[in-house]
Amino acid sequence: MNSNSDSLIAYNVLEKRIINSGFCTLCGACEAACPTSALHIKGEKVHRLYDCSKDMDLCPICYEICPHSEALLLRSLSFVADAPIKNEALGYYRKIVLAQAVNPKLREQSHGGAVVTALLKYGIETKFFDSAIVSQAEPENPTKPKPSVALVPDDILSAIGSKFFPSSVAKAYGSAVYGHGKTDIAFVGVPCHVLALRKMEAWQHKIIGNLKITIGLFCFGTFSLSSLLEYITQKYKIKPSEIKGMHLSSKFEVQTENDVIQIPLSEIEDHILPSCRTCTDFTSELADISVGGAYPLQDWSTVIIRTKAGEDFFYKAVENGIINTWVIEQEPKVFERIVVAAMQKRTEALKEAKEMEEVYGYLPVLLLRETEALAHIKIEEIMAKNIKTVPQDMAVSQFLDFVAKHHHIGYPMINEKGEPAGWVTLEEAASVAKKKRDATLVGQIARRKLVVAYPDETALEAFKRMSENETGRVLVFDRENPKKLLGIVTKTDLMHTLTKQY
Ligand SMILES: Cc1cc2nc3c(=O)[nH]c(=O)nc-3n(C[C@H](O)[C@H](O)[C@H](O)COP(=O)(O)OP(=O)(O)OC[C@H]3O[C@@H](n4cnc5c(N)ncnc54)[C@H](O)[C@@H]3O)c2cc1C
Ligand code: SF4
Ligand code: SF4
Ligand code: SF4
Repeated sequence: MNSNSDSLIAYNVLEKRIINSGFCTLCGACEAACPTSALHIKGEKVHRLYDCSKDMDLCPICYEICPHSEALLLRSLSFVADAPIKNEALGYYRKIVLAQAVNPKLREQSHGGAVVTALLKYGIETKFFDSAIVSQAEPENPTKPKPSVALVPDDILSAIGSKFFPSSVAKAYGSAVYGHGKTDIAFVGVPCHVLALRKMEAWQHKIIGNLKITIGLFCFGTFSLSSLLEYITQKYKIKPSEIKGMHLSSKFEVQTENDVIQIPLSEIEDHILPSCRTCTDFTSELADISVGGAYPLQDWSTVIIRTKAGEDFFYKAVENGIINTWVIEQEPKVFERIVVAAMQKRTEALKEAKEMEEVYGYLPVLLLRETEALAHIKIEEIMAKNIKTVPQDMAVSQFLDFVAKHHHIGYPMINEKGEPAGWVTLEEAASVAKKKRDATLVGQIARRKLVVAYPDETALEAFKRMSENETGRVLVFDRENPKKLLGIVTKTDLMHTLTKQY
């Protein structure tokens, strides 16, 4: 047997497609999962300590569990797929609420509601879990995350706040299992970290049975440590050792002992890691609980509860006076901003991915790749039939209230004859200036081109039509009466259908 075969020793593919192509985000999952301890993250790179193909003819692990490979995606999705709501922008979920730590001292230290810290501290104190994987700050460089196994509440407190560089949290998860013998572990990470853990779960890797709960953070991207720090040193004459903290709002803020420098986001975009440009997940769609900002509200976080385990744990903390909650429906601006950010991230990632596929010959992005099964499913079997429509003379302000009350972000628009005449989403509505929203009608902003399918066509045809038209949905019409709308199929419905095949 050829021991260097690409397909049999996963490292060869991992090295070529992920590490050498610059797509690694240093999560450390490959190091934690490697059965021969052949991999090690040092500096900003994964190194192979010795040639594992000398000991084995076949091993698929490191490539399959890497969050940037196409393997195991649908199986990973199945861990959250029993949630009742599936949303095109936010994934599967049970509930979305606004939340904050009751303890004001925690909120002062965090830039958000300190929900993650409060939940982790509560979980450790009540022995709900025996350890938590967090990203503390390196003592000599507080902006650099230090992935750690937190064992006591003080360890959790020293990880408060976001660090915008890669953190090898999956590697720390491996240390919690192998080094500390922990069996009930809480895990905190950005979406690609959570995906790596879910892939290990789909793979049924032996270390994953010790995972108790995953808390995912919203994420727009992380920066290359060396590249961004070098830029800040050159342009702003601030050495890495002088930086006390970094904060992200509408601008990127760099804090020193005596000053806060504001840097426009457009100026630092080039230092974002290549994988982030093709990443479609903004809200950690595979976590038990996802947490992100609640702009424009200060002091609050947005919490998306996805699984039963996440729901039980979160509401225990609420019942015990650790977390305050508030209904997101009362704050439509927060919801709107998150949905728009998630949709924009996805759209831009898909565009970027197309260009990268031409350069690299494969698509490093979470997409519907396992499409064969769709050819055997008829659209009428999977389309949503209970369709809500909006009239073309509805004001944009009313439309935004309508979206806040329902779970979908896009709706067919009907004309005065009651016939479908366009499609309108939160994204278009949110782009209308606030003072013009009462006077602007849905009919003025709707997309007029409808992407159409018929009930007797296959789900694969619906998928192809979505891809050709760069849209996430098709409207299903009656063949006999082409103005009669029968249903809608979205990309999320297709993913849902495929996850049920496993
Ligand atoms: C790289 C990055 C980008 C983000 N982008 C956005 C965004 O665009 N929009 C948005 O709404 N929210 C974003 N967030 C999430 C946001 O910054 C907060 O982390 C989140 O709202 C939780 O707030 P909190 O007050 O509850 O967290 P805290 O109570 O302050 O706890 C933060 C937790 O985050 C963990 N953490 C910190 N840095 C990292 C890291 N680099 N990798 C893994 N874990 C880490 C720590 O372990 C800590 O436990 C981002 C977070 C990160 C790390
Ligand atoms: S032994 Fe380790 S490095 Fe080699 S292919 Fe398997 S997981 Fe990858
Ligand atoms: S598993 Fe993580 S550390 Fe390993 S190559 Fe993939 S992204 Fe990099
Ligand atoms: S944008 Fe995506 S790939 Fe980049 S760090 Fe965030 S979750 Fe990972």
